[in-house]
Amino acid sequence: MRSAGLLVSEALTACANAVTPGVTTAELDVIAADVIGSAGAQPSFLGYYGFPAVICASVNDEVVHGIPSDRALKVGDLVSIDCGAIVDGWHGDAAVTVPVGDVGPELLRLSETTRESLWQGICAVAVGGRLGDIGAAVEGCVRATSPDYGIVRDYVGHGIGSQMHMSPPVPNFGRVGKGLRLKSGMAVAIEPMVTVGSADVSVLEDNWTVATDTGNVAAHWEHTVAITDRGPWVLTAPDGGAAEFAARGVTSPASDLT
Ligand code: MG
Ligand code: MG
Repeated sequence: MRSAGLLVSEALTACANAVTPGVTTAELDVIAADVIGSAGAQPSFLGYYGFPAVICASVNDEVVHGIPSDRALKVGDLVSIDCGAIVDGWHGDAAVTVPVGDVGPELLRLSETTRESLWQGICAVAVGGRLGDIGAAVEGCVRATSPDYGIVRDYVGHGIGSQMHMSPPVPNFGRVGKGLRLKSGMAVAIEPMVTVGSADVSVLEDNWTVATDTGNVAAHWEHTVAITDRGPWVLTAPDGGAAEFAARGVTSPASDLT
């Protein structure tokens, strides 16, 4: 899973670096396909319930599951790129939200809040803890930042391993001390989806793209995290999460793993 996670990280970095006004989301898809294919690995998304691409590219009011197309990104757009890869049967899954040119402070704040809530959720992962600890940390971070932000409830994170989507569901809301007990050896994909205003969402006519009902913008960040006796290990971060843990005063010796 570490190999798959590192490959997903590499693909997302390549895609994010290619985000510029005028690039199409289909071109980003080719970049991710090349990274994964060059490594002799398989994309998780392509063909998943018939999904036609390697990445999901969700722009502005699109939250998740956007299909790459000839849509050209333009200045002021906010694009979420989600990618999964399979190495030797094991999955990695992560997502980033990338601004296209100058998007202004409000959209940056939304994306940065979503990213911070992801890391707060990751920092809440501990053997013997509860699933609700993760959701509560994500929710608390978002709520503390703005009462005007919504947390999408219709789509959640998930267990991950020999399949991309496994038990348990990992909601981005919850209560400390409630829910499934976290055990060493589990792996979860934590993926907050945060909106400006109401978090109500609908699936568009393409039967994939999930968009906000308000038309307001959304952001989405995700990592795959292994739960170990030495703490959380962020499989989709090249440093295992070490820098982000250090920045938040969290100790996770697992992040020293390679
Ligand atoms: Mg994903
Ligand atoms: Mg996921």
